[in-house]
Amino acid sequence: MTLPDLTTGKPIEHCVACGNNQLYRQKNFPQWLGVAILGVACASFFILQGLYRPRPAWVILIGSALFDGIMYLLVGDVIVCYRCQAKHYGLPRSKSYDPFELAIAEKYRQERLRRELALKK
Ligand SMILES: [Zn+2]
Repeated sequence: MTLPDLTTGKPIEHCVACGNNQLYRQKNFPQWLGVAILGVACASFFILQGLYRPRPAWVILIGSALFDGIMYLLVGDVIVCYRCQAKHYGLPRSKSYDPFELAIAEKYRQERLRRELALKK
């Protein structure tokens, strides 16, 4: 299998691993970490507000929002294949890929389940 040249700076049109042309982009940042930071900031905010400490509560809440904004700007995108979940790193930031769509992902999940069921028979 010939791999396409990923250093041309052009967006890829197909998955390098399986050739599927339905790809989506997501931030190259663990989603669980972003949710954890938000959760800790919100919990700290409410606890400190309950303890009548509004200044540190707002500092933590606004600080986490600033951190999130900075991370959004610094972290690049990763292009993911709906079919095989292959992640393509190092591509230039591009809006030519749509963000994740649940309906498309569900189509490939159903396809994967039917394939697994057919193999069991
Ligand atoms: Zn693929």
